[in-house]
Amino acid sequence: MDSRTTEWDIVIVGAGIIGCSIAWHLRKGPFRVLLVERSEPGGLATNAAAGILGPLNETSGPGPLLDLMQESLALYPSFVDDVQKASGLSADLVSSGILSVATSPEELKSLTARWQWQQSRGKGLSFLHSDEIRKEFPDLSPSVLGAIHYPHESHVFAPRLLKGLLGGLSRTSVSFRSGTSIRKIRPEGNGDLTAETSHGDRIRSRKIVLTPGAYLNEMEIPSPVPPVIPANGQILSVRIPDFPLRKVVFYPEKGYFVPKLDGTVVIGATEETVGFQTRVTPRGIMEFLAPLEHVCPRLLDAPLQLTWSGLRPKTPDGLPLLGPHPLHSNLIFATGHYRNGILLAPVTGQKIAALLQGKDLDDLRPFSPDRFV
Ligand SMILES: Cc1cc2nc3c(=O)[nH]c(=O)nc-3n(C[C@H](O)[C@H](O)[C@H](O)COP(=O)(O)OP(=O)(O)OC[C@H]3O[C@@H](n4cnc5c(N)ncnc54)[C@H](O)[C@@H]3O)c2cc1C
Repeated sequence: MDSRTTEWDIVIVGAGIIGCSIAWHLRKGPFRVLLVERSEPGGLATNAAAGILGPLNETSGPGPLLDLMQESLALYPSFVDDVQKASGLSADLVSSGILSVATSPEELKSLTARWQWQQSRGKGLSFLHSDEIRKEFPDLSPSVLGAIHYPHESHVFAPRLLKGLLGGLSRTSVSFRSGTSIRKIRPEGNGDLTAETSHGDRIRSRKIVLTPGAYLNEMEIPSPVPPVIPANGQILSVRIPDFPLRKVVFYPEKGYFVPKLDGTVVIGATEETVGFQTRVTPRGIMEFLAPLEHVCPRLLDAPLQLTWSGLRPKTPDGLPLLGPHPLHSNLIFATGHYRNGILLAPVTGQKIAALLQGKDLDDLRPFSPDRFV
C-alpha cells in the first residue's frame, strides 16, 4: 500500500442525516469507521427539511414503507435522547400531532377515503368534522371542512439533530473527513473497495456505504447503479412567536406548516424536477402560500424570515435504496429517502449498521437495490 492510501473497515460517503445515523449506530465499535463529506454536512437535503415525522400522513396505502416509517417513529425519542446526552444539543423533538385538512368537497372525499384504510393503522386517530375543528382549532379558517388528526406524529429540528449527531460522533472513535469528495469507487480482487478522492488520494475499505443523497449518480461506481434524481423543494419560514396552534398542518396539494419551538413557523414545500438547481422562485412559493388563505390566513401576514430550497433524493418508485449492490456485496446503498429521510434516519441507521455487522435482514428486501436491475 502506498503513502496516499489509507485503510478502513467501513467508509460512509456523505454526512447527511442518513450517513450520520449509520455512523452513530456504529460508534461503539469494533470497526475503524471513516465518514467522508464533500462540503457542508447535510447541505443537499437534511438542512432544508421541515423535520416532520408523519408516517400515516405521508403514505398512500399500507405496505413495507409505512411499516418502516412507523418503526422509525417509535425509535425517535430514544434516538434523540441519546444524541442529546452525547452532544448537549437539543433537537427540539415535539410530539405535536398532525392535522391533515380538506378545504373543498373533493378534498373531503379523498380525505374520507384515506380515513377508511388508515383508521385502524395508528393509535388514537380521529376524523374531525367542521364544527369540531372550529371549536378545537379556532386559528384555522372556516373553510376547513374536515381533518384527520394523527395525535402521535411529530416533528424535529433536522439541522440541529444533524449538528448533535456530528457533535456526539466527534467524541467517539468514528473519524470524520470533510472537504473531500469521493469521485470513484472500484472493487479489488479480494472484495475490498478502493475510493478515489477529489484530493487525488485513495481510501481502501472492506465495506463502503453510499449515503450521498441526491448526488448518487454523480459518482463513478461499478454498474449497475440504481437511479436517484433530485426532487427540488422550496420552503420558507415566518416569525410568529405567539402562534397558538401547535399542530403540524397539511393541506392539499402538498402544502404544510410546522410551528417550531423557536417561534418560527416553517411553511412548505414545492416538489420540482429541475436538476440540481436550488433556487427559490415567486411562482414556487405561491404554490403553497396561495392555498393558505383557506387554511390559516393569519400566517400570510406574519413577517417573512427566510426562504431556502433543497434536493430530496428520489428513486423511480419513491422507495429508499437500502442494501448491497447487486454484484458487489461490500458496497452498500442507503439513499433515496425522498420526502422522509429525517423520519427514516433512526431505522436506517439501525438496520444498515446491523447489515454491516453481518446480520441478514429480511425486512429490507422491499428496498433492495436489486429491484432496478
Ligand atoms: C424542502 C424539503 C423538506 C423536507 N421535509 C422533510 C420532512 O419534513 N420530513 C422528512 O422526513 N424528510 C423531509 N425532507 C427529506 C429529507 O430532507 C431527505 O430525505 C434527507 O435529508 C436525506 O438525507 P441524506 O443524508 O440521504 O441526504 P443529504 O442530506 O443530501 O446528505 C448527503 C450528503 O452527502 C454529501 N455528498 C454527496 N456526494 C458526495 C461525495 N461524492 N463525496 C462525499 N460526500 C458527498 C453531501 O454533501 C451531503 O452532505 C425534506 C427535504 C426537502 C428538500
